[in-house]
Amino acid sequence: MLHIKNLHAGIDDKEILRGIDLDVKAGEVHAIMGPNGSGKSTLSSVIAGNETYEVLDGDIEFENESILDMSPDERAHKGIFMSFQYPVEIPGVSTTNFIKAAINAKRKALGLEDLPARDMLKLIREKSELLEMDRKFLSRSLNEGFSGGEKKRNEIFQMAMLEPSLAILDETDSGLDIDALKIVANGVNKLRNENNAVIVITHYQRLLDYIIPDFVHVLHNGKIVKSGGKELAHELEDKGYDWLK
Ligand code: ADP
Ligand code: MG
Ligand code: MG
Repeated sequence: MLHIKNLHAGIDDKEILRGIDLDVKAGEVHAIMGPNGSGKSTLSSVIAGNETYEVLDGDIEFENESILDMSPDERAHKGIFMSFQYPVEIPGVSTTNFIKAAINAKRKALGLEDLPARDMLKLIREKSELLEMDRKFLSRSLNEGFSGGEKKRNEIFQMAMLEPSLAILDETDSGLDIDALKIVANGVNKLRNENNAVIVITHYQRLLDYIIPDFVHVLHNGKIVKSGGKELAHELEDKGYDWLK
């Protein structure tokens, strides 16, 4: 599904990613861990197409096609979903309307008509039940006054509605509380299947107690310095990152 080859990327004249190779197949969950400043968020931004960063070398293929020349929107329409480190608040736009617009924009890009209102409602009902969400919250303005946990729930709901083939969740170093962690983990576990893949980016091991990854990669100084199975996350919890530097 995702094939990253010798990816070098940076900003101005500073190289941040210094030769990343990563293969993600359908059905897999990969965790990317690493100390602060190792390039985790940069990697997710570059995959999503954030134009702040310049790709200096290498390639990113998604479903056998290079995506480097695609805009963030085109990548999203192809099925890449990216969680936001700092979710935007949009006063006056309800969560439901935001998601409807996102779904119909994606359908339009695929040459499809808008999803009929009845089908949209059915989808909203199905997904909110799956995620055990209070539907009252869907009529509130997007993220406005939402708690950290509510923002996360909203993000997972967007992901459920959009049914991406690749979801990239950057949990950052900001320290989600345990409730928010569980919301993310339960949502991801309910949504994962043999046709989609998830990349979970996290500084701490604790999220990986709830989302069990198939592979764990450690990023240090813009390179993957170690890869392993889920046990690697526990090893890092015990030993920290210094032994890998
Ligand atoms: P992580 O997510 O692993 O903590 P980041 O990807 O956020 O790491 O950052 C990696 C390095 O790149 C850091 O040294 C950071 O300061 C630098 N960096 C990332 N984004 C920018 C930016 N927009 N401008 C300048 N430096 C940046
Ligand atoms: Mg950081
Ligand atoms: Mg980060």
